[in-house]
Amino acid sequence: MSGESRFNDLEPLLERVSKPIQYVGGELNSTVKDWHVGGHGPGGEDLTARWALMYPDAYEVGVPNQGVMILYEVLNERPDTLAERTYAVWPDMEALLREHHLPQLTVDGHRSIRDFDVFGLSFSTELGYTNMLTALDLAGIPLHAADRTDADPIVVMGGHASFNPEPVADFVDAVIVGDGEEAVLATTEHLLAWKREGRPGGRTELLRRLARTGGVYVPAFYDVTYHADGRIAAVTPNDPAAPARVSKHTVMDLDAWPYPKKPLVPLAESVHERMSVEIFRGCTRGCRFCQAGMITRPVRERSITGIGEMIERGLQATGFEEVGLLSLSSADHTEIADLTRGLADRYEGTNTGLSLPSTRVDAFNIDLANELTRNGRRSGLTFAPEGGSERIRKVINKMVTADDLVKTVAAAYGAGWRQVKLYFMCGLPTETDEDVLEIAELAKRVIETGREVSGRKDIRCTVSIGGFVPKAHTPFQWAAQLSAEETDARLLKLREAIRADRRYGSSIGFRYHDGKPGIVEGLLSRGDRRVGRVIEAVWRAGGRFDGWSEHFSYERWMECAADAFAALPPEAAGVDVAWFTTRERGEDEVLPWDHIDSGLDRDWLWDDWQDALSEVEVEDCRWTPCFECGVCPQMGTSIEIGPTGKKLLPLTVV
Ligand code: SF4
Repeated sequence: MSGESRFNDLEPLLERVSKPIQYVGGELNSTVKDWHVGGHGPGGEDLTARWALMYPDAYEVGVPNQGVMILYEVLNERPDTLAERTYAVWPDMEALLREHHLPQLTVDGHRSIRDFDVFGLSFSTELGYTNMLTALDLAGIPLHAADRTDADPIVVMGGHASFNPEPVADFVDAVIVGDGEEAVLATTEHLLAWKREGRPGGRTELLRRLARTGGVYVPAFYDVTYHADGRIAAVTPNDPAAPARVSKHTVMDLDAWPYPKKPLVPLAESVHERMSVEIFRGCTRGCRFCQAGMITRPVRERSITGIGEMIERGLQATGFEEVGLLSLSSADHTEIADLTRGLADRYEGTNTGLSLPSTRVDAFNIDLANELTRNGRRSGLTFAPEGGSERIRKVINKMVTADDLVKTVAAAYGAGWRQVKLYFMCGLPTETDEDVLEIAELAKRVIETGREVSGRKDIRCTVSIGGFVPKAHTPFQWAAQLSAEETDARLLKLREAIRADRRYGSSIGFRYHDGKPGIVEGLLSRGDRRVGRVIEAVWRAGGRFDGWSEHFSYERWMECAADAFAALPPEAAGVDVAWFTTRERGEDEVLPWDHIDSGLDRDWLWDDWQDALSEVEVEDCRWTPCFECGVCPQMGTSIEIGPTGKKLLPLTVV
């Protein structure tokens, strides 16, 4: 474990790859610490905790990722800990690294990943799984947890995908579920205590200590048995340290965690050229398709003063000119109007622009939009009604009427916006062609009203539509996913319906993805341990960057899946891609993620699924009495919202 920089070996390769800047590091606010920053114990014990953090996608997507950025800073603030970052290398760099026998390196100290104590990966989406295997392989870390030795780092997974880690259970040593800030520090404490004691019992003992906390899932400590028809019979701990269910972590006071304090400024072009401040975490709107909303309950707001301080400090530390107010539904912050007005006042006369990356139709008002663009550009507005018909919006619990939408959009056109984007999903449970075709009618009404209120002909509306993928820990976790062929056929009909009417056709843009990537995502989202062999086979067949359409191959996934499932024992003969995706599950079926405790009560989720089928809506518990989803009592948490009555005082006189 040397921790030496391999930059001299890497440097000659840089001129031979695309975007070499993504491998060099040195971004504003990045950190490289001494390898032995924690010093040594009296017996020479190494007392530094070393984390290599990976966002398993390309640099340009990974650098702005808030999760990794926060943990990087939280860990590096500890004087005895160092954290460095790494991202997925492009295939051209992968080939060169292999040719020159160079390992996967961090971008900060250009150190080999294998030299670190912990290799932590944050998965926002399951489509990064093959990139994890590339990184492990390049790093010289055995792909399978079972083959690792004390010389290998502990491979830890986090992020939203960790709420069903079973498809990658063979490849990861430990899984942290939920908010990472406190959890990585607690893990660091365990690591250092174990090192201080002279590493008793090797890596297995360290994993036992982590498992005993009740908040770290160690897949190797659980056995899965199956029924003759392929369904799971039980997931049972095989080690006394392992709890029957593993709990998610919840950070309650966001103001106590004002990270990132000094956001990283990417060297190369990245997907977001702005600083982001998370204004609240969690969402209780109860949209039934939304895994992020369900698994991050309850709502915890950052205070208006806390947000103001983070923005001021972050802008000074970065020089960014745009601030994104992040959350699952930013207009729902109880003090959003005061906040946006206060920020627009504070940065009046500067080029600092504000944006709300996600906006609900019903929480939006045009004053808010005007404040947001007072100092910046007036780009397009995006709304997400998600479902085309009133009926399907009841099924998904997205309580917005067509009239609400048209009224909001009309106000936007009236206030000078020319471009509105509407986001929908296709393939929702109980959906028919008619539900989706109503999207065309809605878009036409939007254009018609827009023309009326603006008195102009040149307004546009873009309909963007994606295939619905049922996710774990949501009421739709039991639902059948629509097949790729049916999704494509339905979308084709919608496109024809939009194009058919010449009065609107050219004013309505239509963007959609075919249903194929959604099926692979569905396989990985609701898969069990048997899907691991498919992931490995796809990776061995060249699968990389599955989130990128130019690299994604549906055929490769289907061929590898057919081979891998054919090798299962004969009783699992019916288990294939369709079995994992388009099959509806029954109430009693053991789901692969049932032993991961998101706090949501399983019976409540089932009842909510039944309510969906009966088109019954559920209110937001922020504004109504608790409807007992289970999260708050189970996790010892509560809803934390304003208004605080505090004002956003200008920190700087502009
Ligand atoms: S337990 Fe009650 S208050 Fe807490 S998130 Fe669930 S419904 Fe809302």
